[in-house]
Amino acid sequence: QIPNAPLVIEEIEVTPPQKNELRIKVIATGVCHTDLYHLFEGKHKDGFPAVLGHEGAGIVESVGPGVTEFKPGDKVVPLFISQCGECRFCRCPKTNLCERSWSSERYASMSDAESHFTCRGQAILQFMGTSTFSEYTVMNQVAVAKIHEDARLDRVCLLGCGIPTGYGAAINTAQVTPGSVCAVFGLGAVGLAAVMGCKNAGASRIIAVDINEKKFEKAKVFGATEFVNPSAHSKPISQVLHELTNGGVDFSLECVGNVAVMRSALESCVKGWGVSVLVGWTDMEDFSARPIQLISGKTWKGSLFGGYKSKDFVPVLVHDYMSGKIKLDEFVTHSMTLEQVNDAIELMKTGGCIRTVLNISTE
Ligand code: NAD
Ligand code: ZN
Repeated sequence: QIPNAPLVIEEIEVTPPQKNELRIKVIATGVCHTDLYHLFEGKHKDGFPAVLGHEGAGIVESVGPGVTEFKPGDKVVPLFISQCGECRFCRCPKTNLCERSWSSERYASMSDAESHFTCRGQAILQFMGTSTFSEYTVMNQVAVAKIHEDARLDRVCLLGCGIPTGYGAAINTAQVTPGSVCAVFGLGAVGLAAVMGCKNAGASRIIAVDINEKKFEKAKVFGATEFVNPSAHSKPISQVLHELTNGGVDFSLECVGNVAVMRSALESCVKGWGVSVLVGWTDMEDFSARPIQLISGKTWKGSLFGGYKSKDFVPVLVHDYMSGKIKLDEFVTHSMTLEQVNDAIELMKTGGCIRTVLNISTE
């Protein structure tokens, strides 16, 4: 797979699971903007050839020596942030980072150093350590969550990335409070999940901001109460929000991946206590802001995978979906096969979907 080109379908060799590893039969996978980012937008082009995809769910096919928690047939979600349980980050309740993740050193290539795939003898990188656009993948048990045996895999695959990311950014990182006023910038799956998080945290107003007005109807389903299209105003969006809210919102969440929007989200917060959270992904440009924004008492934070310790919380979120506490069905606008992956990517590029789920294999 090369950058800036459609994906190609190839036969690959997948290694058998080694010590502490499992081989997973992928059943379904979502297509997330981070896949597109790596393929078309990111400036680092050393992360190729790779198998993309990181929002999947599947069934354990076989296990290597040392694996005690999993057995063939278990339903699982591969995790792009591991949770080894032993490193100093895993031991600290303040973070969900894990030293064993590919991401602790390899943000530039966005892949694991170790590969489990070859194609005609050439090593293929494992994107975000997961590679779910594949019939099989191999992962270390520290980066796999075992989930409920009745979980619907073509839905809970979304818990591998986008939904915990946005939902947790509101619940864990922003810590949205009851009665508060929130603004969510960007209404893809990540932003809509942030809207759902604000709603479940008891926000009284949730202002949904997107340049694509087609997204507003969906945002309403997740609990947004007002809608603003920045391109429809001649004033800066932060000024529009200040006027709407008598001085700025309590919480803002950036779910676009654009440094100008990150700045606007911060500037949209109320002075004194406003909190702005960066969720969107980019390493293309540095961001900037006036120091007075923070000196006046605002807080600027970031969130990776919604702050959730992955192995502990993905099974909890599966349970929350099955008990109706969080929505997943409403995010899925399209279902396709792996062969249609380029159509799914095109749909996301043009803003024509929320999430496309690719059905890879049958259970
Ligand atoms: P998406 O492409 O489905 O949604 C992005 C939305 O932003 C679209 O609705 C688009 O119309 C809107 N948008 C674009 N420019 C805008 C602007 N100037 N103002 C307001 N809205 C604008 O993407 P997604 O899958 O929901 O992902 C969103 C972001 O989150 C991406 O940057 C992705 O890489 C990132 N992400 C971060 C993490 C993390 O752990 N922090 C995890 C997953 C995804
Ligand atoms: Zn993702």
